[in-house]
Amino acid sequence: MTPLAAVVPGPRVRLFACFLRLGCQQAKPLQLHTGASLAAKNHYEVLVLGGGSGGITMAARMKRKVGAENVAIIEPSERHFYQPIWTLVGAGAKPLASSGHPTASVIPSGVEWIKARVVDLNPDKNCIHTDNDKEISYKYLIIALGIQLDYEKIKGLPEGFAHPKIGSNYSVKTVEKTWKALQDFKEGNAIFTFPNTPVKCAGAPQKIMYLSEAYFRKTGKQSKANIIFNTSLGAIFGVKKYAEALQEIIRERNLTVNYKQNLIEVRADKQEAVFENLDKPGETQVISVSVEVKLSAEQCHRCRRR
Ligand SMILES: Cc1cc2nc3c(=O)[nH]c(=O)nc-3n(C[C@H](O)[C@H](O)[C@H](O)COP(=O)(O)OP(=O)(O)OC[C@H]3O[C@@H](n4cnc5c(N)ncnc54)[C@H](O)[C@@H]3O)c2cc1C
Repeated sequence: MTPLAAVVPGPRVRLFACFLRLGCQQAKPLQLHTGASLAAKNHYEVLVLGGGSGGITMAARMKRKVGAENVAIIEPSERHFYQPIWTLVGAGAKPLASSGHPTASVIPSGVEWIKARVVDLNPDKNCIHTDNDKEISYKYLIIALGIQLDYEKIKGLPEGFAHPKIGSNYSVKTVEKTWKALQDFKEGNAIFTFPNTPVKCAGAPQKIMYLSEAYFRKTGKQSKANIIFNTSLGAIFGVKKYAEALQEIIRERNLTVNYKQNLIEVRADKQEAVFENLDKPGETQVISVSVEVKLSAEQCHRCRRR
């Protein structure tokens, strides 16, 4: 897994959620980027790897400290995605297009955008290499390459995403499938999972569960839905005060939460999900996403009572 953002060896910095505003703050309309640099320099005071939320935010901050001409961002994608919106995309409240912007429009004005992929870091020589064979050196390096999605760690994925009932809000490729699955849902188990790995957003699995429940309620499907949250964690939230508030919502909405359950396999053809009990390695539980196998849901309720 790649860390979300690291600064080597620069000053202590904080990430700002308002990166778009920061990025455009000092720009007059005609100063905005129209495209990636063709003739980039080969040395920058601050070099930012990745033009996602972290990279753009840090470039805007560093621009104010060292001047725009001394900052560059290396990012291969023409399209920048603001991923927190994907929760709303999965719940049908926003279109996917609303989360994307041309990368050129979010690069802070005056900062160099090098359209390439980083393939190699050489911290001993303060330089990196790109996939178009460029060597670029830096005084300070900011790594904001995001997190790698390892769906293949779950047996049956990613090929299982071809099935209409499986979606994931963590990827631009699969987030719209969540909304489709909610719309197609008629009755039975609706399972939401929190994996046993670092994740982009720890709140995302719960957020989509609550939004799904609200959608089922509005559309009259709630009484036929058995909503299950299988989390690899041992608590619903790390802070007691908020955990208690969430437990209240869980009770009110009749949601089933099973702790220390890690999704290890998806059997898309059989519409089954297999979970391992992290407290008892080797002990598995199979939950059907079809109403026909009610036993699985009952097993789940028993887990909750333990
Ligand atoms: C469904 C969902 C809901 C979320 N909700 C929230 C929320 O409510 N609040 C919140 O604070 N956060 C939320 N997040 C998390 C937030 O989106 C991430 O923390 C944030 O995007 C991380 O920023 P980043 O720059 O580290 O990574 P990213 O935004 O993923 O950007 C990484 C960038 O690196 C680029 N890159 C990758 N490899 C290379 C390479 N080799 N060379 C060059 N560039 C490369 C990629 O193209 C990408 O542009 C949510 C995330 C998701 C998926």
